[in-house]
Amino acid sequence: MKPIFIAFVFPGLIIAGCKQSKNNTLEEVLSGGRWIDLTYSLSDSTLYWPNNPTGFRLDTQSNGITPAGFYYSSNSFSAPEHGGTHLDAPVHFAEGKQSADKVLLENLIGNAVVIDVSEKALKNRDYLVSIKDVQDWEVKNDSILQGSIVLLHTGYGQYYPDVKKYFGTTEKGTAGIAQLHFPGIDPATAEWLVTKRKIKALGLDTPSIDYGQSKDFKTHQTLLGKNIPAFENVANLDKLPAKGAYVVALPMKIKNGSGGPLRIVAWVNNAK
Ligand SMILES: [Zn+2]
Repeated sequence: MKPIFIAFVFPGLIIAGCKQSKNNTLEEVLSGGRWIDLTYSLSDSTLYWPNNPTGFRLDTQSNGITPAGFYYSSNSFSAPEHGGTHLDAPVHFAEGKQSADKVLLENLIGNAVVIDVSEKALKNRDYLVSIKDVQDWEVKNDSILQGSIVLLHTGYGQYYPDVKKYFGTTEKGTAGIAQLHFPGIDPATAEWLVTKRKIKALGLDTPSIDYGQSKDFKTHQTLLGKNIPAFENVANLDKLPAKGAYVVALPMKIKNGSGGPLRIVAWVNNAK
């Protein structure tokens, strides 16, 4: 019953690999494509919201030859939850909703569509992705299937980790927050994607799904309030096709966490 198993677990791969026999194993289907890392490394350069008092820290605990004669390396790390490539768990803006450890795997893995708004967003740091942007994508690519992971390519990923170009300011603290200028998703678009397309996750290549000048974080409230997680500071979106990518986005499983570091990758069919 292998083909049924594959079709059930990885329906996207079956569609993507449809030129191959349906009797192919999952491994054979996967060998027809490649994995693309959509994750920034965590380091001293990792970007955090201007009012975060700390960043990513890696402290060496052991590094060298032990008395027993073998090499041994071990570190400890600490970091705020929200920085670098990371998950926003629903509880981040919606009391009582899922924490990082409770987000369903079904919401983190699946077919992705990539909506490229970079032409407009790179000309306007305060750009809000509109319903029309999504509808224009659908005219070219067909309707977004229910249960898709929607990724918005604003083009700002090319600036990461240049804080001035990426955030629009190098200022820290509350004053820095007021100076944030980067694109995000119009709350009306978020609402439309939830109600009309029943998306299961939303990600993008900026620090926040709400634009830098947002004061009420309405897009966060809209999505997270419905237990739809968000992925922020997603890397390499320019390397994905408009559709056909299959995303696996696995966050650190922090109990009661409001988010956390996310390792997100996408499988892309070589034929595309
Ligand atoms: Zn966040």
